[in-house]
This record gives sequence, C-alpha cells and structure tokens, in this order.
Amino acid sequence: MSKIKMNPIVEMDGDEMTRILWQEIKDELLSPFVELNTEYYDLGLPNRDATGDRVTVEAAEAAKRLHVAVKCATITPNAQRVEEYKLHEMWKSPNATIRAALDGTVFRAPIMTSRIKPVVNTWEKPITIARHAYGDVYKATEYRVPGPGRAELLFTGENGESFRQTVYDYECPGVLQSMFNKDSSIEAFARSCFEYALSVRQDLWFSTKDTISKQYDQTFKFIFQRIFDAEYAEKFRAAGIEYFYTLIDDAVARVIRSKGGFIWACKNYDGDVMSDMVSTAFGSLAMMTSVLVSPDGNFEYEAAHGTVTRHYYRYLKGEQTSTNPVATIFAWSGALRKRGEMDGNGALAAFADSLEKAVLDTINAGTMTGDLALLCPGPDVQKVTSAGFIGAVRARLEK
Ligand code: NAP
Ligand code: MG
Repeated sequence: MSKIKMNPIVEMDGDEMTRILWQEIKDELLSPFVELNTEYYDLGLPNRDATGDRVTVEAAEAAKRLHVAVKCATITPNAQRVEEYKLHEMWKSPNATIRAALDGTVFRAPIMTSRIKPVVNTWEKPITIARHAYGDVYKATEYRVPGPGRAELLFTGENGESFRQTVYDYECPGVLQSMFNKDSSIEAFARSCFEYALSVRQDLWFSTKDTISKQYDQTFKFIFQRIFDAEYAEKFRAAGIEYFYTLIDDAVARVIRSKGGFIWACKNYDGDVMSDMVSTAFGSLAMMTSVLVSPDGNFEYEAAHGTVTRHYYRYLKGEQTSTNPVATIFAWSGALRKRGEMDGNGALAAFADSLEKAVLDTINAGTMTGDLALLCPGPDVQKVTSAGFIGAVRARLEK
C-alpha cells in the first residue's frame, strides 16, 4: 500500500510524558500510513531556553503561513522549573505566545465514546466551549473603598472631551471594580467562532447578560449579530447550521436539556466557569481536545491536558506508564483532517477519520488506559500501558 501524501503542517513538539507519546504516535500510527510532511519546531523547554524562546515565535509565524498546526503539551515554567531546567529566564507560556500571535480563540471539545457516560444523561454529542480570552474581570481595576465617598467612572477622550458618571455614593466601606473590553477583540472572537462553526458544521450559541448589562454585554451581542449578518449568514445557511443568541441563564437551562452537538461561545468569565463544568460532566481531562482558531482561519490543534509530569517521573525510573494518548492522537487527526479539507485531499481526511474510529473502537472493545478503566469498570475492561494502547489502535488501523 502506498502512503498518503500531504502538504506541510506545522509540528510543535513539547515536553515530558506527552513528548514521549508524541514520538510513539508518529512512529506507530502516522508514519506507516502517511508520508508525514511537517515543518518541525522543537518547543521542548530546553530548546525554548536555548533559543531565547525565539522558536515559539517562529512556530506561531509558521502556523499563520501554513494555516494548520499541531502542538504537543509544553511546560509553562514556574520558579521550580527554572531550577529544574536551569533556565536563563522564566519564559512565558507558549500557548499565550501563540494565542497572541494568532489573535485566536480556544475551542475545547470532549471526545466521546459509548462507554463513558456523561453525567448529564441527555447529552449524546459533544458540547464545545469557546471562551473569549481577553479583558473583563481578568484585567479589571479594583479598589477597596475605605469609607463614605463618591465613586465615579471617568473617561477622557483624545480630544479632551470627557464622560463622567457617578457609580455610587458610598455611605459605608465597600468595594469597587471597573473592567473593559475592545471592539477589535470582540470582533476577532466573533469571527473565530463563526469560522470554527463552519469548519465543524455545528450550530453556534452565544450568551451574555445583555438585559442587565445594556452597554457592555449588549456590545458583544450587537457585534456578533452585525458580523454574522454581514459575513456569515449566507455561509451558515449553505452549511445548514444556525447562529443562536440567548441570555446566559436561558443558555444554561437549554444546555442541560440539550442533546449536545453545538458550540457554546462565552465571555471570558462565563467560559472559564462553564468549560470546567462541561468538561467534568463529560468525563475526563485526558479525553478533551483543544483547537486555537484565528479570525482569518488558521487552526492549531492540541490536547487540553498538560505534560503529565507525575507519569513522566515514573517513566524516567523505567516504569511503563498507562498515560492516555487519546487527546494527543486526536490533535494529530484534527490537524490532518483540516489539512485534507483545505487542500481537497480526500485520502488524508479519510485517514484522520479512520484513525479516530480505530481509537474509539479500541476503547469500546474494552482496551484502555488506567484513567479510563477507572471511569468505566466492567468485566471485559483490560487496562493497558500507553504503548499497549497505541499498539492495539495500530492493529485495528491496519485492518
Ligand atoms: P496535567 O499534565 O494535565 O496532569 C494533571 C493530572 O491529570 C496528571 O497527573 C494525571 O493524573 C491526569 N492526567 C492528565 N492528562 C492525562 C493523560 N493523558 N493520561 C492520564 N492521566 C492524565 O497537568 P499538570 O500536572 O498540572 O501540569 C503538568 C505540566 O503541564 C505543567 O508544567 C504545566 O505547565 C503544563 N501544562 C501545559 C498545557 C499545555 O501545553 N496546553 C496545559 C496544562 C498544563 P494522575 O497523576 O492522578 O494519574
Ligand atoms: Mg478555570
């Protein structure tokens, strides 16, 4: 059988246990079937340190040029890592650097199998959360009000014109907060959401509290609607999908009653809270994918989990670990499918489908890593090592 050919994607290697899995996945599940064509960037911490983190910036630039990237989990250094890796600096999170360079939005979606039952028993399909990762309470200015006095909101325009409004006349001590956002960031968020919905052909929901927040939240609602009407309404109709706006409290009630199978876009804080709620209700962090989408249609795929440090230390001692490689495999299949779709390379997209099916069939047949075996115990469940799992997937894939 001849191998499937492909145009290049960006490959960003990473750290620790996921770096080990990365190589095994390439050797066992990809290279035997696809003539892998990647522009390789080593984002492992030692190389980020050796290049003064230039490699991360170059990888992000490459993602803009080739439009599709796949990334391994990476260490975000803290004081302990600076010591452990003898770093020259406490480098920034690579994900933050890449997200800033692509001006992108992160979409998190659970990988569902028939064996792992969501806590909400009406959910049949994944719910993807899109979180606006800019501004709001995360960049707020806060003040502890010591006692009676007047709090005011003051804006001074470039031309010297100003806006002043009383927030509250305090008669006692209290607290005060002001937060901001920018049209340009909200527009980028909206476009990323519409692009992603089209790319996966799923309905897009967006929720805020615009009935209460008549300037702030309403601006989000209006910008989404304006961009949808002007740029996406026709494309959505053609794809047979919908854009749907509702109040956040109504959205919460509808999400719980839904069958799933849509994207739920949230403001920064709502997305922070709801993504943990939804991912926990679906089952396992090791079964969560993540894709960064830029408003101009660049895609970077990764697993939502980290480098699984505790398993790596056991691996270094010579132990065969049972680390779950599924989300990392799906990062690869996501990137290969996107490459295939963009280039009209049907064989590549079909390979991505087969790979995912082989993974899910393996789990549904009872072969799984320890984290999943704990979630769905059964007489036929066989707990295997990472290598054992990858080997079982390969056997199915060859069939
Ligand atoms: P983590 O790597 O996600 O692991 C936390 C725990 O979750 C693990 O110890 C393990 O639990 C379980 N787990 C996660 N993924 C698993 C998998 N694939 N298979 C089986 N179990 C899995 O988070 P962390 O330990 O907080 O962070 C480790 C490093 O990852 C940090 O340096 C952090 O900066 C980095 N990180 C990177 C990214 C990214 O690149 N996107 C995201 C998050 C964290 P048990 O030990 O109980 O088995
Ligand atoms: Mg959180």
